[in-house]
Amino acid sequence: MAELKTKGIIVREMPVSEYDKRVVIITKDKGKITAFARGARKPNSAFLAGTQIFSYGEYVLYKGKSSSYNIKQVQLIEPFHNIRNDIDVLAYGLYVLEFSEYVIQENIPNNRLMKLMLKTLQVLVADIINHELIVEIFEIKAMSYIGYTPYMKDCINCGNSNNLHYFDARMGGVVCDNCFNNKCVVNISSSTIYTLKYILASPIEKLYSFQVEDNIKQELKNITAKFIDYHLNYKFRSLDFLIHL
Ligand SMILES: [Zn+2]
Repeated sequence: MAELKTKGIIVREMPVSEYDKRVVIITKDKGKITAFARGARKPNSAFLAGTQIFSYGEYVLYKGKSSSYNIKQVQLIEPFHNIRNDIDVLAYGLYVLEFSEYVIQENIPNNRLMKLMLKTLQVLVADIINHELIVEIFEIKAMSYIGYTPYMKDCINCGNSNNLHYFDARMGGVVCDNCFNNKCVVNISSSTIYTLKYILASPIEKLYSFQVEDNIKQELKNITAKFIDYHLNYKFRSLDFLIHL
């Protein structure tokens, strides 16, 4: 079996026997994979740093008798150690990993989403803009990268371009006052519509370059929560922790 050399980020690590480890890696070439790292928990292991959660590196992998991968070599690119310095940043970082692990499929690479993950972790560590806003932006962009792009141009139900005051999570876009129906609908202001359009249109490099008022942040939070809940219908464990921060 040929070797595979690919860049990746560790999203989960599980101890196996006394010294080994099994990790889940989001990779550039194979999407989500599970890999075995022999001896990775020994203090002098060459795999020690490169197999910790958040580590971003270049991995050389091979397949053994079973279908899962084994790590042969790791070259660490960015350990994201500083993410552990602040409990708030750590919690949001863990959510970014959990979300990505859930939505990225095995053997189906999603390079835009992987790039978004790395950028999001960088800005969380850099501590320049509000952490909650960073994660809201991440969620909107990530949903878009897996095929759920909120429709913001005009009313998703009738095409009306006026009186757009609601976001319908089930339909996946803004709705006008005439099409408003109570199920899965949250209020949206024109400033929040503008912000969402900016997030959807912006390249990853320019994504985390703005601040918003608290009311917009709150609206974004309501919208992403409903939108993700309706379309993914999955309860992220790291969110429980964030709610209690
Ligand atoms: Zn309408």
